[in-house]
Amino acid sequence: MSKIDPKDIQKRMDRISEIFSDIVSHAETVSKTRCPYRNRHDHCTAEFRCRNQQAAETEEAPLVCGHEGEFDYRSAWESNPLLHARATKKLDEIGKAAAKRRADARRKKTD
Ligand code: SF4
Repeated sequence: MSKIDPKDIQKRMDRISEIFSDIVSHAETVSKTRCPYRNRHDHCTAEFRCRNQQAAETEEAPLVCGHEGEFDYRSAWESNPLLHARATKKLDEIGKAAAKRRADARRKKTD
């Protein structure tokens, strides 16, 4: 069994660190101009309105991101993404309460 040379390990670790620091640096640069909601097909995956959203060729197709990458994309966002989840939950609760009221009313009519 061969012995592991600590200097060789350190050399490899330094190389890996160098590679990862380049990746992180590039990701940080890209994140300033590429919206995180834009997927690799240039579709917008955001669940809120944004002025950069463009209609796709068909109604069923997802919205297309029209951001050119020349300015900060966040200024086009029209709502707080965190509020969307809260609003969706509230609408779901309202819908369930209304369905329960309708079911109760139907039950009373049949009794
Ligand atoms: S349309 Fe707006 S939210 Fe959607 S990916 Fe483009 S910049 Fe982001």
